Amino acid sequence: MTNTPDAPRRVPVLIVGGGPVGLTTALELAHHGVASLIVEPRVDVEHSRPRAKTTSARTMELYRRTGAAAEIRRRAAIPVEWSSEVRFCTTATGREITRLSGVLGLDLQDSNLTAEAAQQVTQPVVEEALRALLQQRPESTLELGSRVIDVNLDGDLPFVRIENVDGVLSTVTCDYLVGADGSRSVVRAALGAHYVGAAAGRPNVNITFRSEQLGALLPEGGAIHHWVLNPSFPGVLGPLSLDGLWWAIATGTETIEDDDEAAALVRGLAGADIDVEVLATDPWQARMLLSDSYGSDRTYLVGDAAHQNPPWGGHGFNTGVGDAVNLAWKIAAVVQGWAPAELLDSYEAERRPVAQQTIDLAGENMRALSIDLTSPELIDDGPEGDQARSAAALSIKQVKHAEFYSLGLVLGYGYGPDSSHQAPTSGEYYPVVAAGNRLPHSRSTGGESIFDSLGREFTVLGGDGRWAAAAARRGVPLVIGDPVDDRVVLVRPDQHIAWAGPASDDPDTVLDSALRGFGPPTS
Ligand SMILES: Cc1cc2nc3c(=O)[nH]c(=O)nc-3n(C[C@H](O)[C@H](O)[C@H](O)COP(=O)(O)OP(=O)(O)OC[C@H]3O[C@@H](n4cnc5c(N)ncnc54)[C@H](O)[C@@H]3O)c2cc1C
Repeated sequence: MTNTPDAPRRVPVLIVGGGPVGLTTALELAHHGVASLIVEPRVDVEHSRPRAKTTSARTMELYRRTGAAAEIRRRAAIPVEWSSEVRFCTTATGREITRLSGVLGLDLQDSNLTAEAAQQVTQPVVEEALRALLQQRPESTLELGSRVIDVNLDGDLPFVRIENVDGVLSTVTCDYLVGADGSRSVVRAALGAHYVGAAAGRPNVNITFRSEQLGALLPEGGAIHHWVLNPSFPGVLGPLSLDGLWWAIATGTETIEDDDEAAALVRGLAGADIDVEVLATDPWQARMLLSDSYGSDRTYLVGDAAHQNPPWGGHGFNTGVGDAVNLAWKIAAVVQGWAPAELLDSYEAERRPVAQQTIDLAGENMRALSIDLTSPELIDDGPEGDQARSAAALSIKQVKHAEFYSLGLVLGYGYGPDSSHQAPTSGEYYPVVAAGNRLPHSRSTGGESIFDSLGREFTVLGGDGRWAAAAARRGVPLVIGDPVDDRVVLVRPDQHIAWAGPASDDPDTVLDSALRGFGPPTS
């Protein structure tokens, strides 16, 4: 990166916003050997408003490539083995209605389906892990305390003005500009792009609190969520640590006047007169928004800047990680000269349909919140109550299935015209070797993940010397690996299958097509 007092700094990639998705974009670019500057106003990460808590199995698989999965598990306050259960109850300390086991991919340790299980970990901890990893990478410069105040896309290269923590202005030009600046994205505005959709209504208030007594009053064995189906106090609570830090969502609550009201809500959810120290309250409403453009030419949007979905099911930041991985290898391939600039057109064609699927699924999940599942009979102590709770238990297993067993979407989304055979809302994941799909995961007899044997860029499984020659002619980094079936399978840097076909097909033609990416799905 260069800088003189008279000229703007010039960087290969400027990332506006160092939330989880901007940081992931930088780490992915570094993984592919591309330098970036990340501009982020927050000097410190704030722990009292945790937002995302579910890091999906797919995100952890992708993070495994950069060391982020191990770093996140090391920092997580709750080990993945602790629990993969969700309880539904009249209050957290009251009657249990039912429970779901093996939720959210948390039980996938050593599974054949994935290289990594999901992890319950708060968003601030993820951000700190990513910041720490980036600080060790020579390719990445993290400029904290600075904000982009102006984006100009009229020239040959994107041009931005930055204000630092002391109010000093500077300018930067870049080959590529990535807008990872969240819901009020200045990059989206500069692109002239707009969110399409609406706030989804359904007010909620998040409460972060400490309680020393609550943990001892809950059933043994642990649960990551306690869904309280109580007409007076509908909501959810769960642990943020195993030493007395908790989160709660009061569903249907618009605002909270003060900490006393928040503490009363927590005691209502707990069903016990416990000690409560309120650390933060946060009113929020779910949104279902998708940008009408993901960018073009040299400027692209990732994460919440491009899409927002209701948090039920835990997909928001995970979808953004998929964006970051998809965009970063493509920018790297173009910057390094082994793919045509046209490859970047496939970013929107591949990722926007995934965001739409995610918004649809999360919107469905939002139709069955605690407030919808509760009824006065559920808290009746007599036989009528028993009957109501048995009926509710059956219904919960159906209506909450897609929210807690969503591997069909998490592992099963694909790219390209033929990708629509996966049915995300069914929850089931069917591993299929087909162009556009994530390479089905497998383990060797020694337990090693097939993903650990893939190259950093392209890998051809079952290919021969013709593939090496075709790749060398284009300067494409390519590793040749063992076959997975009787076809040759070309795997991209993001572990998605570019092509699967007979050994007789021409590697030159296949590679040229893979370097243009996929178009949108046909149905
Ligand atoms: C209650 C709740 C629970 C959730 N649970 C989950 C979950 O379990 N799993 C999940 O995957 N998602 C979840 N989400 C969604 C998740 O929090 C978001 O999807 C995620 O924060 C998006 O990350 P991002 O980096 O795209 O955007 P953000 O986190 O919004 O980051 C954008 C960054 O850009 C910076 N910025 C803004 N303007 C500028 C500027 N002009 N210049 C420079 N920087 C700028 C901001 O400071 C910020 O750091 C939840 C959300 C909520 C509200």
